Amino acid sequence: MRPDLRTQQRDFLLEITRAITAQLDLSEVLRRVLHASLVMLAGRVGVVALSEKDDGRFSVRAYSGIAADDVPQLNDKLQELMNPQDAGGFSREFLNQKLRDMADGIDPRLAQSIAMPLVFARNPLGLLIVFRSYQTSITPEDLNTLQSFADQAAIAVNNAQLYGELHQEHQRLEAILNNSGDGVFILNPDLTIQRANLAFERMTGWRPEDAIDRLKSEIVVWESLERPDIEDALEAGWARAATSNERADTIYVEGDLLRRDGMTISVGITYAPLLTAEGRLESIIASVRDITNFRKAQEMQSVFISTVQHELRTPIAIIKGYASTLGRDDVEWDSGTIREKVAIIEDEADRLTDLVEDLLTASKIQAARELRLNIADTDLRALAARSAARLESQTSHPIVLSFPANFPLIPGDEFRLRQVIENLLTNAIKYSPGDSAITVGGRFTEKSVTVFVRDDGVGIPKDQIDKVFERFYRVDDKLTSRAHGAGLGLYLVKEIVEAHGGDIAVKSQVGSGSTFFFTLPRD
Ligand code: ADP
Repeated sequence: MRPDLRTQQRDFLLEITRAITAQLDLSEVLRRVLHASLVMLAGRVGVVALSEKDDGRFSVRAYSGIAADDVPQLNDKLQELMNPQDAGGFSREFLNQKLRDMADGIDPRLAQSIAMPLVFARNPLGLLIVFRSYQTSITPEDLNTLQSFADQAAIAVNNAQLYGELHQEHQRLEAILNNSGDGVFILNPDLTIQRANLAFERMTGWRPEDAIDRLKSEIVVWESLERPDIEDALEAGWARAATSNERADTIYVEGDLLRRDGMTISVGITYAPLLTAEGRLESIIASVRDITNFRKAQEMQSVFISTVQHELRTPIAIIKGYASTLGRDDVEWDSGTIREKVAIIEDEADRLTDLVEDLLTASKIQAARELRLNIADTDLRALAARSAARLESQTSHPIVLSFPANFPLIPGDEFRLRQVIENLLTNAIKYSPGDSAITVGGRFTEKSVTVFVRDDGVGIPKDQIDKVFERFYRVDDKLTSRAHGAGLGLYLVKEIVEAHGGDIAVKSQVGSGSTFFFTLPRD
């Protein structure tokens, strides 16, 4: 090769290498490879085609000396060239024939073509083709020169593919992080925040961009904490002893976190160390879980256990007391006293039965997440009359019935609907002092029936009216705490009514009574 040409080739190679190391866009690198190849080989038209990663199809990625309109037909020709099965084998003649076809398609004046594969680590990545407008011999030098440019192009393509994969992996991680329901933050070894996700923002109120670079202790501020946090653990040598082979222990801390807006949230944080190959602490991954509901459930459970204990013990103590009084053999009881005491024993046994029934129903609902109903034609008016008669015998409150004579039957579970009416009536009795009247009545439309239970009792404070339907909820006042109850009645009423496709509502005013209504569909 002539010395000036050799210098020129070297300059081109240098320029392409620089473009690759400067991480220029792949199309720009390929454009420079094409330009160098055309100048060095005195070509007129040049094409770089790359195989697509997913289906291996070839398509033009850079071209010179042809119009953009010609690219689609060139892509078609490339498929024929690269899929020799359809045309009987991959011979030199076949290749030359196809290249000639391709040249004719571009410009009939093109007389010669030289194709060089782009290969990186034995992986075929594409093809570099130069077309000349005159016929001359293709020298080994021509081939060497083209080979050197093709090799550079292959490096650039390989880099771009690696970069693409890295980018995709990065995006994937980002998506996992941002769609995770748990809050995640990553700490540097000096305990500044490296990154945080959207769930972390939802929990703490700290936007990731505001939290980054701040000390963890500025962002994660505990109102109460049950165990020492990561700072103490690091001081005590956590993760320092471990090598990358043995997994270092994670740390779990739990407490109430002060959010940025001043509210608190109960969370559990798990810290896991990320170590370098030499066992140096590189970062700490922390996942944050909102445990507010869990804590609430725990609290509910303990309230439940203490109320149920109380509610079970009281009637048992009364029954036992009256039974042993009646059983004394040193006293002769007159029949009136015996009847009175037996009636009390019976009432208390009824109360126990009701409580046990409520507990069973509640646990069935909890276990199955729904209530199974035995649906049949049900006469709510007759049900209400029977319940009123039964309860009236145990109370000084008169119970008034107010149903229209033609009140319709509805499809429902008679046993469950009796529970609803009796719970509402029992509440009306419990929460109305004296002997004020209680009314149970009904209305109906073409589509639904509504049953109401009205009392002139203590009423329910406005701010607690929605809560009375929650499991174990009891209004906190003197009268309620004197009345028996486990806070289950209205929860069951609501569950049963909703299982029937109905609704329950209450109107109430402190001091002037409450009315509970439930509406059920007629079909
Ligand atoms: P409890 O076993 O405590 O009666 P409920 O679930 O039936 O449980 O009722 C929850 C709370 O709602 C009661 O503790 C009481 O404070 C309030 N409540 C229910 N019914 C009435 C009513 N008719 N009048 C006033 N307060 C009521």
